[in-house]
Formats: sequence, C-alpha cells, structure tokens
Amino acid sequence: MEYKHYRNLPDQTGHYGPYGGFYNLPKELEEQFKEITHAYLTISKSHKFITELRSIRKHFQGRPTPVYFAERLSNMVGGARIYLKREDLNHTGAHKLNHCMGEALLASYMGKKKLIAETGAGQHGVATATAAAYFGLECEIHMGEIDIEKQMPNVIRMKLLGANVIPVKTGLRTLKEAVDSAFVSYLKDPKNSLYCIGSVVGPHPYPMLVRDFQHVVGVEAREQFFEMTGELPDNLVACVGGGSNSIGIFTGFLDDDTEIYGVEPSGKSLNIGGHSATLTYGTPGIIHGFKCYLLQDEKGEPAPVYSIASGLDYPGVGPEHCYLKDNGRVHYVTVNDEECLEAFYTLSKVEGIIPALESSHAVAYAIKLAETKKYQSILVNLSGRGDKDIDFITSNFGYTAEEMHKRYPEYAKSRK
Ligand SMILES: *Cc1c(COP(=O)(O)O)cnc(C)c1O
Repeated sequence: MEYKHYRNLPDQTGHYGPYGGFYNLPKELEEQFKEITHAYLTISKSHKFITELRSIRKHFQGRPTPVYFAERLSNMVGGARIYLKREDLNHTGAHKLNHCMGEALLASYMGKKKLIAETGAGQHGVATATAAAYFGLECEIHMGEIDIEKQMPNVIRMKLLGANVIPVKTGLRTLKEAVDSAFVSYLKDPKNSLYCIGSVVGPHPYPMLVRDFQHVVGVEAREQFFEMTGELPDNLVACVGGGSNSIGIFTGFLDDDTEIYGVEPSGKSLNIGGHSATLTYGTPGIIHGFKCYLLQDEKGEPAPVYSIASGLDYPGVGPEHCYLKDNGRVHYVTVNDEECLEAFYTLSKVEGIIPALESSHAVAYAIKLAETKKYQSILVNLSGRGDKDIDFITSNFGYTAEEMHKRYPEYAKSRK
C-alpha cells in the first residue's frame, strides 16, 4: 500500500484537506505557534526526548495499558468478540495524560517555566496540573465560573497538585470563554510559558502534536491485539469529543482493513443545544483559530452544545476527523444519553469495569454493532474510568439500568 495516511498529514501549512490550519488569530499568536511547531519538529524527534518520554510512560503513567477480552459482555451480546483497550488504567484515569506529559516534556526542553491551559469539566486541567507537578513547572488553569461550581472535586485536585485555578467571569462562563482567557494570558508571556490544549483541536501545530502523543495508544493496541489473536480487529470503536483518544487509536489502524467507527453524542434531542454530534450534523466553519465541522448558528457563531458526558460537549472537532469523514475512511455515528447510561450500567455489572460516561458512548455503539457483526471482533478504546461520574449518575438515575428506566421520565422533564 503506497499511501500512508499518518505520514502524509498535515501538510506544510497544517491542513488536513481543507481543515485545520490557522485562522483569525492575532499576529503575535500566529508567530508563537510557528515557533512551537519548529521546536516540536526538532526536539520531539530526538532520541533523547523519545527515550525520556518512553520511560515516563512506563514508570509514571503505567503504560502499556492492557487490551482485555470482555468475555461476559461478548457472551451477552451474542457472538461478536468485544475487546477493550484499557486507557482507564492510565495514571489519573484517562488517556489525557498521554498528551499532557508529552506537552510538558516539550515545555521543559524549551526552557519554559509555566504551563497554561483551559478546562471545561476539569479533566484536562487535572492532567495538565499532574504533568506540571511532575516536571516542577508552574501551572495556570483557566476555568469558567459555572464549571468551577459544577466540578468542585476536580478544582480541589488541581489545587492539591499545585495549580493556580483562574475563574473566568465573561460570557457564558464555560469552556469557550476559558479558551479565550487562556490565550490572552499566554500572550502576556509566551517566552516563559507553553499553552497546552486539551484535544486534537486549535490552531496548527496542536492537532498534530496531540495526535502524535496519543498515537502510542494505537501502536500498542495493534501489537497487543495481534499478539492475543493472531489477527487485526475487524472493527474499531472510540468516542469523539475533540477527538484525541479516537485519533490516537485510529492512527494505529488507518492503513489496515479494519472498519473504524467514531461515536458522537446525540444527547437528549437533535434540536440546537440538545446534542454535540459535530461531524454528523455540523457544517464547515472556524472556531478557536482552525477550520473544522462546526455546530454553528446563521452568523457562524458556535452553537450551544450538550452531552451527558461533559468531556464530549465541544461545538468543533479535530480537523483530521473532518478529513477522515469526507474521504470515508472512518464512519461517524451517534449514541444518545439513554444508550450511554445503559452501557455504563452494563459494563460495570457484567465486567466489573466502571467506564467514564464519554467512553460509555463507545461501549454502547460496540453493543449495537455486535448485533450485525456476529462472527467478528470489535476493539473499543475505553478512554477513561467512571469514578468522576458516579455521584452524578447514582443521584439522578439510581444504581441499576432498571432503576434508571423507572426514574428517567422525571429526569428527562427536569432537564428541559
Ligand atoms: C476528555 C475525555 C474524552 C473526550 O476527549 P477526546 O479528545 O475526544 O478524546 C473522552 N473520554 C474521556 C475519559 C475524557 O476524559
């Protein structure tokens, strides 16, 4: 096969087909991002950097994470074999640390003193603060006031890890304003700080840099799956928010025959503000300095988005996913809140693994897919563990799927 997807993208200007690049950014910011691109392409390809990152992954993060055959779940769904790539066993409980440790190692090689990041639900903030603590860097996390109230345990974690949490009081006081605020703060002292984005989004080089640091998931999973079964998976499934856990595992398999599925949240309704299925229902637009499919209003402003999994509710999506949708290599599909919850309860009870609500979307789609792929294998990227979600779920829906079915009608009304 001549064409190697992973080696060919992005192009020199940071584009994946028409998507990506950098747009509508202040000149100074553009200059800074060019400098980071250059530093990344030289430093991160050195043997010293690679060796150090591998050592961190092994001894601090606990990599490689295992691939696990979910036998009881497979029996339950009637034939198809379901396997899980256990990113939930990564230190801090999700895949996000994969790119945060890479970004922080790059920052320390570049002689930076501080990491700056935004966070919505707090997961990226915690991962960035963890990486900063490891390298002895200062850490500044921008977070909307509304999110601070909602996500107090993560705010406490970030503070314990030594981060300075900056409340953002403008606009809707959530993720979008937090990104703007982090950009402004970064521009005050770009020489001594590095901006760490939370997914494969934002201006070039971030979608490339975060993808490359997450690529380890795909490389490991391909080797592990082959060793376990003597073949490659027939199907691969991962959830898509900004798109980092999914692109990480997908890039291990893009040049193979594996059918690949990215799962977006169709939430509670398909009205504006009821879901966050960007690739399925969005149209090309610009957000946070890059071009991608976007859920937007008539004026091109990002539309309000929603998912029961707060890590999935971003109105844009990584530019490489947009490219993979257009060329048909990856199928983008949806799972709604109720299917996600059902999968959450099922995996917990049947396998003894409590998944994050984000990852539950991927599990739910694998269960659906199993009905039509009886004699095939399905590898699911289990991006994170569900400890962060259990208070919210048990207080709203109870402890079992049966309880959830009884209580769901009232909950559905209360959310309108
Ligand atoms: C943040 C998060 C996601 C969504 O982010 P991606 O960049 O799309 O991977 C998915 N799963 C978990 C557990 C998360 O914390």
